[in-house]
Amino acid sequence: AVRVRYAPSPTGYPHVGGVRTALYNWLFARHHGGRFVLRLEDTDQARSTEESARAMIDGLRWLGLDWDEGPDVGGPYGPYRQTQRQELYRAYARRLVEMGRAYPCYCTPEELQARRQEALRRGEAPKYDRHCLHLSEAERRRLKEEGRPEALRFLMDDEGETVVHDLVRGEVRFENALLDDFVIMKSDGLPTYNFAVVVDDLEMHITHVIRGDEHLSNTPRQVQVYRALGVEPPAFAHLSILLAPDRSKLSKRHGAQSVDAFREMGYLPEAILNYLALLGWGYDAEQQIFSIPELVEKFSLERVSKNPAVFDIQKLEWMNGYYVRQLPVDELARRSRPFLEKAGLVQRIERGGEAAERTLHKALALSQSRLRHLADVPEWVRYYFEPPAAYDEKAARKHLLKPGVPALLDEVAAGLEGLEPFDEGALEGYFIRLVEQRGLKLGDVLQPVRVAVTGKDVSPGMFEVLALVGRQASVERLRRAAQ
Ligand code: GLU
Repeated sequence: AVRVRYAPSPTGYPHVGGVRTALYNWLFARHHGGRFVLRLEDTDQARSTEESARAMIDGLRWLGLDWDEGPDVGGPYGPYRQTQRQELYRAYARRLVEMGRAYPCYCTPEELQARRQEALRRGEAPKYDRHCLHLSEAERRRLKEEGRPEALRFLMDDEGETVVHDLVRGEVRFENALLDDFVIMKSDGLPTYNFAVVVDDLEMHITHVIRGDEHLSNTPRQVQVYRALGVEPPAFAHLSILLAPDRSKLSKRHGAQSVDAFREMGYLPEAILNYLALLGWGYDAEQQIFSIPELVEKFSLERVSKNPAVFDIQKLEWMNGYYVRQLPVDELARRSRPFLEKAGLVQRIERGGEAAERTLHKALALSQSRLRHLADVPEWVRYYFEPPAAYDEKAARKHLLKPGVPALLDEVAAGLEGLEPFDEGALEGYFIRLVEQRGLKLGDVLQPVRVAVTGKDVSPGMFEVLALVGRQASVERLRRAAQ
């Protein structure tokens, strides 16, 4: 059965590249009815933080990428945090030492550095010179007694090639002579990434390692450790890197990268997942919109591209707008809640009871076609609940400061006071009669009315807006703008 894992190092925030890796693993697991494992690779104790671990977990959970085994839910091969698995790494390291495939190393960083420089001067590749492999028992004892820190190095096979059959990149060959005896256990007793990842993937029965391209060069080292232990490595699939539109490395300045930031801006998880799914995978040339179940059904590693994918925040924004507009109004209202809360509108709506709730739903229905993010919602619904605190400056200059406008607004206020019934149809009739009598265009009247009532240059249709704002509030706002 398929078992895959996402193994973030909790050293920062969950960014789009990592989330795409998590998503592809998740889709692969769900497609094959397999298991998706979350493992925290926190052996870099200087850089790992609890805060980051929490952010990783919260981000995945918000996106709906649920895991079957992990630090919080447990599972048969736990614990799922590397710092809690040290016994295991030590046991595997001992085994490699007994088999003659690992040896202690007492070289100090200064000595290593000096000999590396020396090698470079001779025109040789600066790899570990196996100084400690050839120590006698007596020399070893002496160095130990000197109190030198002891690390463990893996004895690499230095002849021939290590071939990685990558499911995305095809066959990738590495010349063993270029790989050095890397450290598997540091002198502080903690494993290095390249060692711990093998022990964990092996112990957790991982069948497919799907991860970022930056780890491809680590793969031959890992493959050799598997072979030394007498087991076949899992299948590998390395995902190409994400680039910015200018093809530079993706970074913060190309728009928010962290999942939290997207969440705060009002992106929907389904839009983010749909967009990220297409960054390196595609079903055919046309289809852009995929529901999550559809992604699960259609995802395959065969269709993952080896070319770098370009992260384009504008396309994500477009896709988000699409998803926001598809939401049923009830659902839109529910998901907008945190944003309305932040904007101070929730209290107001709750005070207004059911009537205010109905107004909110109607307001959302009127504006939904123009929304791109949930964070836009407050500015599109606020004026149904309170008069504009200020007018949009440009709109006011253009539409309110024209001669004749104050008198016109006063007249409209008077007209609306007596209009029966106060609904869309009657409002439309009223304004059409007014512009006909005056020889004006509809916009000459409705634009100033719009700025007076909403404070803005753009809004849904004014007849609907006025009907929903209500007679009394509309009349008051028109009078105030006329002053
Ligand atoms: N902890 C590694 C990272 O965050 C995971 C690498 C792997 O998947 O093997 O890059």
